[in-house]
Amino acid sequence: MAAAALAKVFGSRLTIRLIESDEIGIVGVGEATIPPIRDFNALLALDENDFLRRTQGTFKLGIEFVDWRRLGHRYLHEFGSAGVPLGGVPFQHTFLRGKAAGLGDDLWAASLNAAACRTGKFARMDQVGQTRLHGLVYAFHFDASLYAGYLRAFAEGLGVRRTEGRIVDWTLRDGDGGIASVRLESGEEIGGDLFIDCSGFRGLLIEQALKTGYDDWSAYLPANRAVAVPCASVEGPTPFTRSTADKAGWRWRIPLQHRVGNGYVYCSEFVSDDEAASRLLESLDGEAQADPRPLRFTTGKRRKVWNKNVVALGLASGFLEPLESTSIHLIQSGVSRLLQFFPNQRIEQADVDQYNRLIDREFEQIRAFLVLHYKQTERDDTPFWRHCRNLPSPPELDRKIALFEASGRIYREQEDLFTESSWLQVMYGQGVEPRDWHPAADKLTDAQLASFLSDVRRLVAQAAEKLPSHADFIAANCAAVPGETAKPQSVRPIVHA
Ligand SMILES: Cc1cc2nc3c(=O)[nH]c(=O)nc-3n(C[C@H](O)[C@H](O)[C@H](O)COP(=O)(O)OP(=O)(O)OC[C@H]3O[C@@H](n4cnc5c(N)ncnc54)[C@H](O)[C@@H]3O)c2cc1C
Repeated sequence: MAAAALAKVFGSRLTIRLIESDEIGIVGVGEATIPPIRDFNALLALDENDFLRRTQGTFKLGIEFVDWRRLGHRYLHEFGSAGVPLGGVPFQHTFLRGKAAGLGDDLWAASLNAAACRTGKFARMDQVGQTRLHGLVYAFHFDASLYAGYLRAFAEGLGVRRTEGRIVDWTLRDGDGGIASVRLESGEEIGGDLFIDCSGFRGLLIEQALKTGYDDWSAYLPANRAVAVPCASVEGPTPFTRSTADKAGWRWRIPLQHRVGNGYVYCSEFVSDDEAASRLLESLDGEAQADPRPLRFTTGKRRKVWNKNVVALGLASGFLEPLESTSIHLIQSGVSRLLQFFPNQRIEQADVDQYNRLIDREFEQIRAFLVLHYKQTERDDTPFWRHCRNLPSPPELDRKIALFEASGRIYREQEDLFTESSWLQVMYGQGVEPRDWHPAADKLTDAQLASFLSDVRRLVAQAAEKLPSHADFIAANCAAVPGETAKPQSVRPIVHA
């Protein structure tokens, strides 16, 4: 992603070397994304249908959370938004007044994204007819190994020189102690002005060479392992990811065109690796296509993601579990901020400090959103869930919940990745109940309120009815052609933090 974007933006003004080791391979489990990925693809001017065809991609309208609030309960975090603002106040205030009046408690009945998820439909559309209602807001599921291969070919096409080989050593430069060069197993020495460390959990340059340090956030987010396995599809792909809370964590289900990706993210204090693997295997839709692959991680963040002349991206910069599919986004966001702060003649410390502040803030905002899912639960049926109810709460999460409970208000801090609609759905879905609503929602008469809510729900249902099925849309526009996909890179068996 970094090589592709830098080559696209700077062209021949930069000489970019990409060093990868097929022997080490990539982690290869990131398969679900969030809508800003479309901005990244647009920056590269990728053809969306071609990209989906070559990565076995499907469309993602949101995430369904099953058993998170309590066993048997399910809700959606979809990427669009429910209803439309009325009288200058966001929809949730009108909805909350309607709910108190007995006019329905299904927030998602007013959302086209949700209706399309529930009916397995998809199309590209910006708005519902001539109304103010949102059309479909989407991201993708794709095979991360194929995406990596696709972008590698793209970058090479723009002049990036890719070298296959393992970095075995490095030299530090005089003065600030930044990296002067890296040495490959072949003996080749490669120097550079700026090094982008995308070496995964090991943090080859940022940690092993520069000893930057890592902040461990396991106290907030206790999951520390995952096991992943692909299985055969037994039905058309759902246009959403499913996250099902389990005994000591949660299971993901991500539908691609050629298979379904599955995994169980868990905390090793509360379930054994063997039990986690068997719970995962028992939950599969179709036949497993490989042996379960174990992964280990430590949730947290590198103390400085840009240190001296090394910028860490991806797993080398830190890791927040994939509950809201934010890791690939963090790579994208790191790349776009690097483009914003890209050095000219020399690296300026003021740029580095600002870059680090922005990335820190983004990690912290995502952490608060993830903790919400775990902490705000009614579940007390296993030791893990009882532990989660007592997790420490990041201050920004406490503020968000207190404000919503008091008055139904949601305030989106500057540059918060998650929108008001995201916070609304997950707070409401997890059972946070506001005590009041904005007084402007009382302006409508009871009859006006009832007809507004029923009109919105009817328009949404009618629009969803007319959409093609997700499977038909893919077949007509972006079905993968066997043999035409980018060559996948190898994946390695076990990753240690
Ligand atoms: C369980 C799990 C589930 C996930 N699910 C999602 C998800 O749904 N959505 C999402 O957005 N993200 C997800 N992620 C995160 C996502 O997988 C990663 O962010 C993404 O794959 C990028 O990884 P990376 O490039 O940072 O590291 P890696 O894939 O580990 O790549 C490291 C690269 O560095 C190279 N390398 C390492 N050491 C050397 C060396 N010595 N010499 C030469 N080359 C070297 C390797 O060859 C490789 O190319 C998930 C992660 C995990 C662990």
